[in-house]
Amino acid sequence: MPCAPSAPVEWTLRNARRRMGPVSQNNAAEYNSASEYNTASQDGTAPDGAAPGEEVFDVIVVGAGPVGENVADRTRAAGLTTAVVESELVGGECSYWACIPSKALLRPAAALADARAVAGAEQAVTGGLDVAAVLARRDGFTGNWKDDGQVDWLDSIGAVLFRGHGRLAGERLVEVQTPEGGRRRLRARHAVAVCTGTGALVPKLPGVAEARPWTSREATSAHKAPGRLAVVGGGVVGVEMATAWNALGSEVTMLIRGSGLLPRMEPFVGELIAESLAEAGVKVRTEVNVASLDRPAADGPVTVLLDDGQSLVADEVLFAVGRTPKTGDLGLESIGLQPGSWLNVDDTCRVQAVEGDWLYAFGDVNSRALLTHQGKYQARMGGAAIGAIAQGKPLDTRPWGAHVATADRLAVPQVVFSEPEAASVGMTADEAQRAGLRVRVVDYDLGRVSGASLYADGYRGRARMIVDLDREVLLGVTFVGAGIGELVHSATVAVAGEVPIERLWHVVPSFPTMSEVWLRLLETYRG
Ligand SMILES: Cc1cc2nc3c(=O)[nH]c(=O)nc-3n(C[C@H](O)[C@H](O)[C@H](O)COP(=O)(O)OP(=O)(O)OC[C@H]3O[C@@H](n4cnc5c(N)ncnc54)[C@H](O)[C@@H]3O)c2cc1C
Repeated sequence: MPCAPSAPVEWTLRNARRRMGPVSQNNAAEYNSASEYNTASQDGTAPDGAAPGEEVFDVIVVGAGPVGENVADRTRAAGLTTAVVESELVGGECSYWACIPSKALLRPAAALADARAVAGAEQAVTGGLDVAAVLARRDGFTGNWKDDGQVDWLDSIGAVLFRGHGRLAGERLVEVQTPEGGRRRLRARHAVAVCTGTGALVPKLPGVAEARPWTSREATSAHKAPGRLAVVGGGVVGVEMATAWNALGSEVTMLIRGSGLLPRMEPFVGELIAESLAEAGVKVRTEVNVASLDRPAADGPVTVLLDDGQSLVADEVLFAVGRTPKTGDLGLESIGLQPGSWLNVDDTCRVQAVEGDWLYAFGDVNSRALLTHQGKYQARMGGAAIGAIAQGKPLDTRPWGAHVATADRLAVPQVVFSEPEAASVGMTADEAQRAGLRVRVVDYDLGRVSGASLYADGYRGRARMIVDLDREVLLGVTFVGAGIGELVHSATVAVAGEVPIERLWHVVPSFPTMSEVWLRLLETYRG
């Protein structure tokens, strides 16, 4: 299935829109001739101060993950010529080794769990997952790790793709080392957008190199379930991958440094998920640190030694302990920045430590919110800012203005595709209290909502909303329970829209859906 893996339908719609919209008038073929025109000539008569041999674009995007693609989409929509540099696959980590394959691995297990939780349907479930079919379906979603579909899409918006490793080589200048060993020098008239993402963090422990531990890449692309899998880390990636591989037949042990799972969410979320993982056969060990690894034979098992002196033997060890920015080999030193550092940006995503309006960083690499949807949002807001500046228009940088990613600070939604699912947006109770806000925490047992009890027999779940008592708006909402992933967008609308409680009282949820939890939360708040 060589289609654009991150969102086939979305791409199709976009392509249709492009065909009708103004950008399609400037398609790739037309642009390629413009590119020749823009190449500085050997006699030095270069456009826009470019040196001989440089190719000039309005915007250069380094990294064609979901975020870089969206920056290109926005700058093309603003009528700007755009080059995109990609060293691996167009579509990035998200399409091939993160969001898409992980959710493709998780969905069959969730579908089965849903059926097993409903009397009548349960009797029809007579077997377990077909592992080979699950993996084949996952492979389809990644386009078998080929990016033709997404390359076609870039082409359709008139962006010009350069395959190779991009490095900054000074102000507005990007040097591309091509796979063939050549070099291209690209100069940006207006902006360079760094969208290089992150890689998995692997701690420098004794024996790590020889043990060849899994990172998120292997955990999402493996073609066989390991017999025994040790998962180090209890954050989102650790929880999701433990859930997936346990369902696919591995014997999973989670090794967690802290006291529980998903520490960034409300504590009841991690508690319920730990309970349910344990019921599914996953061993969850808290307050342990990995001290060293030992894999004496390359194709043999690995011993994980813990700092309390205990050890465990596994066939694979997955480190899911954090991410590191892909800026180590990006030429940051050429503009006075530290290689390997996160790129701090303002709300338009302009890199703060660099003078002028030319260097931007979007997505994971700026560390604001390491989520595809949030990076794509930054791309929409910051891409519009680049377009406005290029057109000499003023920026609207008021909170929630057209050129700022305000939601990064106040309304970041996230769904954890665990069993049961967890989802949240905005602040937790703890964060609101630490921010010194006057809040009320309102909880409701999701299992008491008709829609939830119809969804699954013995439904377990909980919802929490955090009310700002001074403004009577919501600061945060959290849900945990089967099938709640789709509920979070209603919460995001309420939080980002700062919808007053008084008006939420008029927002009527359909009966009998799980959304009635909104009504119950409001009734609990109002008394
Ligand atoms: C297992 C896992 C599951 C996840 N699931 C979800 C999820 O369900 N939902 C969600 O919202 N988020 C999820 N995430 C997070 C999500 O993957 C990232 O937030 C997202 O990929 C960030 O997009 P990006 O474009 O910033 O970076 P990336 O997707 O990492 O893309 C960066 C691109 O830049 C290229 N590149 C890097 N350096 C250079 C260079 N010097 N020159 C040229 N090209 C370069 C890379 O090859 C890559 O293609 C998950 C992450 C993991 C690890």
